[in-house]
Amino acid sequence: MASITLENLAHSYVDHPQGQADFALKELNLQWQDGEAYALLGPSGCGKTTLLNIMSGLLKPSQGRVLFDDRDVTKATTAERNIAQVFQFPVVYDTMSVRENLAFPLRNRGMERGYIADRVGRIAQMIGLEDLLDRKARGLTADLKQKISLGRGMVRDDVNAILFDEPLTVIDPHLKWELRTQLKSLHHEFGHTMVYVTHDQTEALTFADKVVVMQEGKVLQVGTPQELFEAPAHRFVGYFIGSPGMNFLPVSVTGRNATIEGHKVELSHGYGELQGEVELGLRPEFITLTSGNGLPAEIIRVQDVGRQKFVNASVFGNEVNIVIDAGIELSADMTNITFDASKVSIFEDHWRVTPQGAA
Ligand code: ATP
Repeated sequence: MASITLENLAHSYVDHPQGQADFALKELNLQWQDGEAYALLGPSGCGKTTLLNIMSGLLKPSQGRVLFDDRDVTKATTAERNIAQVFQFPVVYDTMSVRENLAFPLRNRGMERGYIADRVGRIAQMIGLEDLLDRKARGLTADLKQKISLGRGMVRDDVNAILFDEPLTVIDPHLKWELRTQLKSLHHEFGHTMVYVTHDQTEALTFADKVVVMQEGKVLQVGTPQELFEAPAHRFVGYFIGSPGMNFLPVSVTGRNATIEGHKVELSHGYGELQGEVELGLRPEFITLTSGNGLPAEIIRVQDVGRQKFVNASVFGNEVNIVIDAGIELSADMTNITFDASKVSIFEDHWRVTPQGAA
């Protein structure tokens, strides 16, 4: 296993890039710690697969270096990097049995028979294939074939890292949760460095210790799920993480005071004098509907989603989503919102401002 360092890395699919817009991956520096489980999260086209393929050696970067521990592997092939990969669609040998498929990466490396049998047995059990070991892969469902692919990706214990590119796309929704949980326990048991590409925040947040959030070829933040939720470094992270995402209200901020349309909101920390485009970011879960105090809010729509209600409101013409307990009855005199000042984030020109006196 290895830590992976990406140094001044950037990639353009254009031969002679003329500017930033020609780069699918803008210049970045990033370190992936040995043994951690990461998710690479972002919308379609933001550069996740490009970054993963550079780490695996399928793609040579236009600039920068890839280091495995201290070794420069920028020009090394995937095999030389000693990496396992699981792709979006199953890669299995139809004519082989499930057991032979799982054993293939180990046989290829000349591992000893007893070790192979033991390892294949353990992996098959963990991903629920133990009853199918003697079945040919041909004729199995796409779900089962992808389970074999996952198993093959995990079967070697000597790889530097395991890279997953949207591995659960073809998996039935109710099985996804089960497989994700199994992947997580395999990670705990074997401790490989894992990178899991997805555009699905639930997958990312449940699988990973750390999530790398990307947008338009840039890495915006690397953080634990809690850090991304509580202190998103960029307004896109606030919006993309959470369901619904963070709300934003345009404000002016001086010291501990934010002002919106003449209404003052006291903040829990000072921010000095902010000059750029300043916004107050607030999670839907931390807003309370009240009657008569706080910012005026007009309720537009209410959706009952079981244990919670999603309330859609307008605050000075800005759309604000609010999540409340299903047990709370809404009434006509709920015309205002309040919130705990300590849960507020302030953004200047899209980036979160660290409050004065905070770490
Ligand atoms: P998705 O979730 O849709 O797979 P992604 O986040 O993995 O998206 P990439 O596939 O890395 O994004 O694509 C990043 C950008 O690079 C996109 O604008 C895409 O069109 C472009 N791109 C990707 N592969 C190539 C290629 N082989 N040639 C030219 N452009 C490419």
